[in-house]
Amino acid sequence: MTAPHHDHLSPVADLGPLARRALAACAELARFTETPGEITRTFLCPQSREVTAYLSAWAHDLGLNVRLDAAGNLRARREGPTPESPTLYLGSHVDTVPNAGAYDGVLGVTLAYAVAEALRGTPLPFALELLAFSEEEGVRFGVPFIGSRALVGTLDDLLDRQDAQGISVRGALEAYGLTPAELPEAEVRGPALGFLELHIEQGPVLQAAGAPLGVVTAIAGQNRLRLDFAGQAAHAGTTPMAHRRDALAAAARFVVAAEELARATPGLVATVGMLSAHPGAINVIPGATHATLDIRHEQDAARQEALKTLLAQAHALAAERGVTLTVTETMTQPAVPMNPGLRAALQRAAAAEGLNAPDLPSGAGHDAMVLATRMPAAMLFLRSPNALSHHPDETVNLEDVDAALRVAVRAVLALAGQHGAGEHGA
Ligand SMILES: [Zn+2]
Repeated sequence: MTAPHHDHLSPVADLGPLARRALAACAELARFTETPGEITRTFLCPQSREVTAYLSAWAHDLGLNVRLDAAGNLRARREGPTPESPTLYLGSHVDTVPNAGAYDGVLGVTLAYAVAEALRGTPLPFALELLAFSEEEGVRFGVPFIGSRALVGTLDDLLDRQDAQGISVRGALEAYGLTPAELPEAEVRGPALGFLELHIEQGPVLQAAGAPLGVVTAIAGQNRLRLDFAGQAAHAGTTPMAHRRDALAAAARFVVAAEELARATPGLVATVGMLSAHPGAINVIPGATHATLDIRHEQDAARQEALKTLLAQAHALAAERGVTLTVTETMTQPAVPMNPGLRAALQRAAAAEGLNAPDLPSGAGHDAMVLATRMPAAMLFLRSPNALSHHPDETVNLEDVDAALRVAVRAVLALAGQHGAGEHGA
């Protein structure tokens, strides 16, 4: 299916002032923090109410209907021409990690509002719903995507999960004044055209490519494993090298093997983030070593193949030293491809704006991954100039924000054109 260009629908006006507003709103929202001097806003903290108030005021200015759903997500909606019209969803999350930057998640929300403002007087053949997810980072309950899971009806299994204070998700919702029994009403109903999420890249790829924006191909699939190497602790002075069963030496070879394989495999990232040797004394050969592995790729087959190779190497490296190896998978998550039609709409919009927006995978999880189980989903990344994120020095360029806004507005107009064409039987 080739969609025609719909650049004629509306020449995109100067969106500079709106881009500045989206950026200024991030600075405003950064003031709402649990910890003075930082930006820290975990799920349902008191400052979440200030975020809700700020965005609600903006939504009211735009004439949108606003509601806080039972998971604490703020939903601002512009109805479509008929009750049967499908909905296009735009947004991201407003919670943060501790001592965060001002843009991760938040910029995707303020840009969604800016898109709605840019299209305020433009008729659209669908409804528009702006989503500010209450929870994405997984900080408070050790599990991410509480906000977006409510939209796809998979939050119920988490309601009894407890935070560090022993408060359950259910209890936290109730304490905030929300009603868990109303969670079904938070679920997406009716036809959904798709979900578009604008988000900072949080990595160095676009900066290195000299590109302001990138179109996400897929959210990488991931395995997390624990590797327990068991050898023999023994005297460091009296045990000749040929008689050792050094668990740390085997694990060290594995760390290097993981790095080498990932460097040699396009798109693969592999990380040993934790390593501990026991008993842990200067004059004792390590008898046991525990390591972790995090391995990701945008294609499941490539990831599975790499993992197989790496584990075979790990077993061989252990065996060479008389060390036994036990592998435990702690998490497996398949890759989530983004929707080809929405990706193409973003690519065409970027091309029409004369912008370089290469394809790239997302190594991190995002709300789009959750919504993709229910509707077409796509993501537009904005360059992270210093590649820092989950850090107070996180930053973004105003011209990239402007570019993202122009591309998003143009893409929404193109979808409007396509949808209109579809309705008329083209
Ligand atoms: Zn984020």
